[in-house]
Amino acid sequence: MYSIPFNRPFFTGNEWSYIQDAMKDGKLSGNGKYTEKCQQFFESKYGFGKTFLTHSCTQALEMAAILMGLGPGDEVILPSYSYVSTANAFALRGCTLVFADSRPDYPVIDETKLQDLISPRTKALVIVHYGGMACKMEMISKLVEENDIYLIEDAAAALDAYYQGEDEKKIPLGSMGHMATFSFHETKNIGCGEGGMLVVNDTSFHKKALEVWNRGTNRSAFEQGMHKAYEWVSLGSAFAPSEINAAWLWAQLEQLDNSQKKRGAIWNWYFENCHSLFRSFDVEKPIVPNYAQHNYHVFYLLCTDAAQRGDLINHLKSKGILSVFHYQCLHQSPYFQDQYKGKPLSQAEKYQNRLLRLPLYADFEKEKFERLLLE
Ligand SMILES: *Cc1c(COP(=O)(O)O)cnc(C)c1O
Repeated sequence: MYSIPFNRPFFTGNEWSYIQDAMKDGKLSGNGKYTEKCQQFFESKYGFGKTFLTHSCTQALEMAAILMGLGPGDEVILPSYSYVSTANAFALRGCTLVFADSRPDYPVIDETKLQDLISPRTKALVIVHYGGMACKMEMISKLVEENDIYLIEDAAAALDAYYQGEDEKKIPLGSMGHMATFSFHETKNIGCGEGGMLVVNDTSFHKKALEVWNRGTNRSAFEQGMHKAYEWVSLGSAFAPSEINAAWLWAQLEQLDNSQKKRGAIWNWYFENCHSLFRSFDVEKPIVPNYAQHNYHVFYLLCTDAAQRGDLINHLKSKGILSVFHYQCLHQSPYFQDQYKGKPLSQAEKYQNRLLRLPLYADFEKEKFERLLLE
C-alpha cells in the first residue's frame, strides 16, 4: 500500500442519499430523474447539444461510431498517443485506423501533420484533448470543413475545460465536434465508478441517437404515445446506465466547482514547486498553451528518457508515493503493430517513453507529499 496513492475518488457526501432517493422513487433502471438532471446540467452549463449518459466513455465512442454508420473501407484519423478506447470503437466497426503524431510541445494531435493523412476514404477525425488540454482547433476545424468529414472530440478527461480561439471567445471542450465523448470513470475529475456520456452536437443525429441509446428501438417515441408498440429500428445497444450511477454522478456534479478548485490548487502547487521537489532529477514541467484553459486533470513531468523515468518512479515508490505513466503508442501495440503502414511517430513515442504522472486528486495532501518526499 502507498501512503499517497495515484488517485482517490472524491466523495462529496450526498451520493448515498441520492441513491436512496432513487430507490424511494422505485426507478433504478436508466433514463430516469437523475439521468435527466445530469444531462440537463451538461446541456445548460456548457451549451452542448443533446447528451446521453453511458456506462463509459468507451461506450460513448462506440455509440458515435454506430451513429456515423462507419464500416469496412472507411478511414478514421486519430492520435496514436491515446487510450485504447479511442481506437477500439472504430476498429470494432471494421474501419481502417490512420494514426497521427502528437505536437512537440504538449501531448495532443499535431494539427499541422493531418493534411497528409486525409484521403478520399477519410470519414472522421477523432481528436483527444489530452488531460483536459485543448487541441489547437483552427486548422482542425478548417480541415474538417474542407474535406467534409466528421469531427469527434474524445474529451474523456476534459470536462469543464475550454478553448480560447483567436477571437478570444471561451468555448467549452466537447461543444466543437459533431459529437464528443466524456468519461466519469473514478480516475477522472468527477465520476460514478464507471460512467460516460455522448454529446451529440449535430442535430441530424438526434433522433437516431435516442434509438441507438435505447437498444436500437423506438422506445422513447413509443412512450410518448407515437407508436402502438416499440420495435427494433436501428443497430443499438444497452448504452444507458442505471439511476444508481446517475444519482451518484449528480452528487458529484453538484460539487464540480469545489472539486475543480481543490485540484487547481494542487496543480498550481506542483507547477510552482516541481523543480525544487525533484531537484536531483532533470525534469521538464508541462507546457500549457495560452489558448487551452485546462481542468487540472493531470500533472505530468517529462523525464529525460525512460531510464530516468524508471529511477524517479522507484524513488517515489521508496517514499510511499505512487506515480504512473501512460499511454503506450497504439500504432506499436501488440494488437496493431503488424497492420501499421504509416511513418514513425516520434513525438507520440516521446510521451510514451518520457511522460510521468504525479498523484492528483481533490483530497491530495501536499504537506504530506512534501514531507514524505524530502525526509
Ligand atoms: C479515460 C479515457 C477513456 C476511457 O474512458 P472510460 O470511461 O474508462 O471508458 C477514453 N479516452 C481517453 C482519452 C481517456 O482518457
